[in-house]
Amino acid sequence: MSNASPPLVRARGVSKTFGAHRALDGVDLDVSRGEVLCIIGPSGSGKSTLLRCLNQIEKPEAGTIRIDGELAGYRQKGDTLHELDDRAVARQRLACGMVFQRFNLFHHMTVLQNVMEGPVTVLRRRKGEVRAQAQKLLARVGLSEKAGAYPAQLSGGQQQRVAIARALAMQPKLMLFDEPTSALDPELVGEVLGVMRDLAASGMTMIVVTHELGFAREVADRVVFMDAGRIVETGTPGEVLGHPTEQRTRDFIAAVL
Ligand code: ADP
Ligand code: MG
Repeated sequence: MSNASPPLVRARGVSKTFGAHRALDGVDLDVSRGEVLCIIGPSGSGKSTLLRCLNQIEKPEAGTIRIDGELAGYRQKGDTLHELDDRAVARQRLACGMVFQRFNLFHHMTVLQNVMEGPVTVLRRRKGEVRAQAQKLLARVGLSEKAGAYPAQLSGGQQQRVAIARALAMQPKLMLFDEPTSALDPELVGEVLGVMRDLAASGMTMIVVTHELGFAREVADRVVFMDAGRIVETGTPGEVLGHPTEQRTRDFIAAVL
């Protein structure tokens, strides 16, 4: 396998403690380009903390994370590592788009302005070009006709689709989703999962924390089960969801279904 392309995400021995509590305990994870990885596991097992470390919202106290070969938080010079300043970390963070359980849109801006904001103010791209791209993204998430609306005028499902378009507007290398449908009324879950399914089919690399096992079964290339800050089991959806080898995985799946 020497000619295989290196993984887009490579995490090794990532640990994170809050006070006396070990939220992540030596996590190793590789994600290939174009791969869709679903992370499942009970509440408190460290799923969000893992995504937050990948996106450098949290800083692990041990382990390394590489995104597209770049060491998160550091610059390597020979054998020595230099810690990056906030500005350089902010630049690295642009590699990951993130969508949270809560939509976090800018409420005083229209849908179109929400999608344009990052590329214009952070990337300093030209407004005309950004507007055209934002309109394409809104079409892609099925919200062209809502471009001029304000977030408060949209359903939760529509707001979450705007949040996805807004993340994509930054042209990230991978997308992280943290329970993107957990806060939605049940009848709105499908439209958000549909957009995510299309995104997966387009070749986007995605890490999705979700309790939607049907989505994981259909869309994921690989499923990871976490418990107590560790990856307990990993495999294809058929393996992890259909024939889990660990008792903890079986108990969790039985409880979610
Ligand atoms: P999950 O997303 O799987 O529900 P989390 O990653 O949110 O789990 O949390 C893992 C553990 O770390 C939990 O016990 C949680 O209470 C704890 N934790 C997460 N973030 C913080 C924080 N900022 N401060 C203190 N404890 C935290
Ligand atoms: Mg969480």
